[in-house]
Amino acid sequence: MKIYTVGASVFATNTYLVVDDDTNKAVLIDPDGDGKQIAALLDREGYSLEAILLTHGHFDHIGAVDALVEMKKVPVYISEKDEELLRDGAKNASSVFFGGRGIVCQTKPRTVKDTDTLIFGGLRFVVMETPGHTRGSVCYFAGDAVFTGDTFFADGYGRTDLYGGSEQMILHSLRKLVTCMKGKRAYPGHGETADV
Ligand SMILES: [Zn+2]
Repeated sequence: MKIYTVGASVFATNTYLVVDDDTNKAVLIDPDGDGKQIAALLDREGYSLEAILLTHGHFDHIGAVDALVEMKKVPVYISEKDEELLRDGAKNASSVFFGGRGIVCQTKPRTVKDTDTLIFGGLRFVVMETPGHTRGSVCYFAGDAVFTGDTFFADGYGRTDLYGGSEQMILHSLRKLVTCMKGKRAYPGHGETADV
């Protein structure tokens, strides 16, 4: 399994491209930034995009979803509890910061819940619900990697003052998450990776 950071998000979001070495099947996690540029990279490398996984529904994690779905016709996965954030600029925090209607995503996603397993070629992602940053924040476990979104950062954890956020819930989630991440590498939604 190879993991790259792609997308050049203006919001400094880490968009991860995860590739199965044997099949060249690929998955994008939280695609923000330039969808065309990401699609061009996939084509150039001969990677077959199979799905888009979202750790949560905030505006800075979804900016390239619609463009990529249009070009690559792939399913998008998000927690049922965060689906409402995709089409609502107030709930996904974009209109809070920028005014107007904000950044929205029109794609109808598939929903995931705790312990669901998603398989694409040799890639296997297990879902862990980690509410607190948003109600529907999830982490994806894949081999020795854990994609933690804005729940866990190398130097802390995500804010809890936006729609659906809860300090008490994120602290509870972090206790469970950190225990399960022992010996693995965290790939957060912003900032550096961290060996836990
Ligand atoms: Zn967020």
